[in-house]
Amino acid sequence: MTAETRRTALAALPDCFCPADGTRVPAGSPEWACPLCRGPLDLDFSPTPAPLTSLTGRVNSLWRYAECLPLPAPAISLGEGRTPLVELTGTVRAKLDFLMPTLSFKDRGAVMLAALAGHLGPDRVIADSSGNAGTAVAAYCARAGLPCTVYVPAGTSPKKLAQIGAHGARLEVVDGGRESAARAARAAADTPGTFYASHVHNPYFLQGTKTYVHEVWEDLGGRLPDALVVPVGNGTLLLGAALAVRELYAAGLIAKAPALYAVQAAAVAPLAEAWRAGAETCSARPRRRRPRWRPQRRQPRRRRPRRRASRSPAPRAPGRSCPPYGSSAAASSR
Ligand SMILES: [Zn+2]
Repeated sequence: MTAETRRTALAALPDCFCPADGTRVPAGSPEWACPLCRGPLDLDFSPTPAPLTSLTGRVNSLWRYAECLPLPAPAISLGEGRTPLVELTGTVRAKLDFLMPTLSFKDRGAVMLAALAGHLGPDRVIADSSGNAGTAVAAYCARAGLPCTVYVPAGTSPKKLAQIGAHGARLEVVDGGRESAARAARAAADTPGTFYASHVHNPYFLQGTKTYVHEVWEDLGGRLPDALVVPVGNGTLLLGAALAVRELYAAGLIAKAPALYAVQAAAVAPLAEAWRAGAETCSARPRRRRPRWRPQRRQPRRRRPRRRASRSPAPRAPGRSCPPYGSSAAASSR
């Protein structure tokens, strides 16, 4: 890609902005966080999805939702997206995103980051990950011919390390936990010529993860289920889901927004804990070890009232400002 082609391509991309203080960052900037408050950036992009009938005959990948994507379909696509939606029971279906090219939903966002990096032409792409995101970024960088370094915490599964290494990425193993790896990546991210392919900070990642909801909507014939249950680490799949629901609702393509349920593994559940505590922010600290289990006399079970996500503000990813799900503020912020 020549410098002139690159400039023209970048001029067509939406700018980023800080949802906390409104600072704007042009599309071609290497900034990966708000230059003022260092918070995560959002994308100034309010697309209108195409109606169901106009999707017929389009490419069989997430790039079929072209109107909703901030980037044109790149040559580096590995056919990501369009994973099967299978019926488990009469009312429950599962979306099989483990059938993506690198076996996780992270491919949806990684292809966006690699395509964006392709426009920027950095010397090196860096990412931090405990496994799946690093694998996905490494694979798409290999496809794009971009040198890639992935920062991983010590103790990352050898299988994940082998997966990342197999795509030709350099591995930087950082002492400490997941946050230590993220800190090391952030420290390297400001080096000139570096593109930080952060699945937490870069808003283009969410533009990819949201496509799984567009696929569910299409596969169900132009509707969404009453509830979407989403596994959550940092929350990128959940935030992507909220984005897509908002787009479909704003375009009048669904009559009602589904409830969003976020599920975290008990071992590391900062969002779940913050949600239960009614907190505005959350900590990524690992849970304290529970005391050893001892048999206790059985107590009568108390029933807890159920909470629906659509009636309260959505849980926040660490550091990311997420306006109340389904609110008018939310609809106007993108
Ligand atoms: Zn800011």
